[in-house]
Amino acid sequence: MTSEELTELALDDSFRFSCYPGISCFNACCRALTQFLMPYDILRLKENFSISSTLFLERYTSRHIGPQTGLPVVTLKPADKIFLWCPFVTQDGCGVYDNRPSSCRMYPLARLLSRSRETGDLSVRYMLLNEAHCHGFENGRRQTVREWIEHQGLAPYNEMNDAMMEVIALKNQLIPGPLPRELAELFDTALYDVDRFRQLLLEGKVDVSKTAVAMPGLKEVSDVELLRFSIKLVAERIRGAANVSVKQANVGRE
Ligand code: SF4
Ligand code: SF4
Repeated sequence: MTSEELTELALDDSFRFSCYPGISCFNACCRALTQFLMPYDILRLKENFSISSTLFLERYTSRHIGPQTGLPVVTLKPADKIFLWCPFVTQDGCGVYDNRPSSCRMYPLARLLSRSRETGDLSVRYMLLNEAHCHGFENGRRQTVREWIEHQGLAPYNEMNDAMMEVIALKNQLIPGPLPRELAELFDTALYDVDRFRQLLLEGKVDVSKTAVAMPGLKEVSDVELLRFSIKLVAERIRGAANVSVKQANVGRE
């Protein structure tokens, strides 16, 4: 076996794996970390600490704009500079277990989403990642990919991550490269900083007068519902910006 091995599995294929306190590699997967966070991960983690998304982002994450995509990239700030431990790991394991990010739940599987250029259909692939440091495969319990997803509570994560991937794919298809500044700011705030976005909406600082997306009641709507709204709003704005560019290009040709 190589130090790292990838095997593609179907939903009903099975694999042997168990992770438990006391295993010789306990916590080994929580260091040397580049942990990307999706918007729903941020919602769950900020709830875990009962703090705002704004404070969570400030305290625990690094953010930059991806040079290729022009989209925000949010990663967890490691707790140290040498071993790059996750800021949430403790001697007893994950300190945010009930709200741990989707990639931690999915491990040792990775879930890859892609859209066919020909048919437009979305497809999901699962890869089993067998890394040398992880001993969970030795004498592990046999289960299917489907059972693993259920057992790890991944359904709400996958639903929201898929919606995010749709909007990212739409952006990359219609506006390759950086977004116009205002739209880039909307993408960042509406999708990654739900509490700040709610506040901006309440203060009337985001113009939603022309949106066709149904506006939720801002005072009572849950963070998850607000994120669903935000994803649709950003998709609508991306289509709008792409249409404007096409019209401007056509005017230039006349
Ligand atoms: S969030 Fe939890 S499981 Fe994920 S890397 Fe950090 S400590 Fe490990
Ligand atoms: S078995 Fe794998 S996932 Fe579990 S603690 Fe060890 S390295 Fe991490």
